[in-house]
Amino acid sequence: MTSQLAVQQVSVHYGDFAAVTDVSMQLEPGQIGCLLGPSGCGKTTLLRAIAGFEPVSAGQIALHGQILSAPGKLTPPEQRRVGMVFQDFALFPHLNVERNIGFGLAGMNREERRQRVAEFLDLVGLAQYAKAWPHELSGGQQQRVSLARALAPRPEILLMDEPFSSLDTELREQLAGEVRELLKESRVTTILVTHDQYEAFAMTDHVTLLQEGRVAQSDTPYNLYHNPANEFVAEFIGQGAMISVTIDEAGNMDNQLGPLDRAHDHWQPGQSLKLLIRPDDIEYVSHSELRLKVAGKAFRGAQYLYELALADGQRVPCLTPSHVDVAVGGELPVHFDLRHVVVFRP
Ligand code: ATP
Repeated sequence: MTSQLAVQQVSVHYGDFAAVTDVSMQLEPGQIGCLLGPSGCGKTTLLRAIAGFEPVSAGQIALHGQILSAPGKLTPPEQRRVGMVFQDFALFPHLNVERNIGFGLAGMNREERRQRVAEFLDLVGLAQYAKAWPHELSGGQQQRVSLARALAPRPEILLMDEPFSSLDTELREQLAGEVRELLKESRVTTILVTHDQYEAFAMTDHVTLLQEGRVAQSDTPYNLYHNPANEFVAEFIGQGAMISVTIDEAGNMDNQLGPLDRAHDHWQPGQSLKLLIRPDDIEYVSHSELRLKVAGKAFRGAQYLYELALADGQRVPCLTPSHVDVAVGGELPVHFDLRHVVVFRP
């Protein structure tokens, strides 16, 4: 089967500056992919290259088997059948909701257009707002109109650039989940650009994490969190602490963490390692003999996120139900469950 989108070893330059270097990714029909990474890592540049607004200096971009970008070749955006949704919604203020949605359907006759607009108004749950003006809608509703407008021409691929970033946090996660359902229902292949990993997790099947224009890891959200390819990924994704340990003759670590005994890992006595400790690697167990000093804590509603100090001063995180309330300076009884801990060898 031909991938819907194939980005192969693409580089994009602004003058001499390489904003994107040697990036490959592909999406199968109906998959939702994500470009994730810190500010300036090249997400928008790559999205613009896929849309046809930036030429590539190396590699190629193909949609449904057809090469659209390669050095010296740039199929213009309007010939790519790409739908776009932007951060600021970009609705036309002088057109009502149904006219905004119908905007890209110029080639259709009146009746076809009316049906298509109605179909997509329905899809985004805004049928009763057909005649409303953009300024009469909430931010979340405006974003749904903008989604309907992008989807109505049935694009080959939908590109979404930070579509929820002007909305407040709570609405953002809710809308990310809703939009995922809508996209899955309409089976449109999509790329989301975001710097927010929780938005990426809530909405997408596959994430390409960029670091300074290169792919740091391209994987499922689960693997990014549990099997990070390197320290950059480990520190960017989720919460956790990277700690240094040394292993003794018996395979024990030089702190209260105990033995490191995963069968598939081989190391030498005396070897120094780095461990990624996630909050879910440390359990609160009320009767545990191991008690760690509370160095900090943050209330998270249903949970407390504790920062605990090991004897050597290194800090590790621990999530507990929020009725487990120990003051800073006190001790929390815990048990380490290091079966899934991620180990890096320097
Ligand atoms: P953000 O999350 O802040 O939007 P981003 O990951 O989308 O960042 P890009 O906007 O793709 O990053 O920018 C990648 C790099 O390319 C940055 O160093 C940026 O300064 C640079 N850059 C972006 N656009 C241009 C341009 N038109 N001319 C020169 N350099 C640019």
